[in-house]
Amino acid sequence: MSVACARPGCTVSTRLLRVSDAVGAGETPLMFCKQCRSVRHCSRECQASHWPKHKEQCNKMKAVRSTPLLL
Ligand SMILES: [Zn+2]
Ligand SMILES: [Zn+2]
Repeated sequence: MSVACARPGCTVSTRLLRVSDAVGAGETPLMFCKQCRSVRHCSRECQASHWPKHKEQCNKMKAVRSTPLLL
């Protein structure tokens, strides 16, 4: 199983889900979107350039996540 950067056109991916594992293996760790934590990007640049497209999905995911199901 591998995880790819969410920005369309970016081919960076990693097999390792934990940032510490990826760094240890010399791979690029992908960072979760801090808002929705449902997509990953390889860099701030990818995050920033994907944001206009991701924004709508991100706000939806954030709304779902903020629903208090586990109180
Ligand atoms: Zn990327
Ligand atoms: Zn997001």
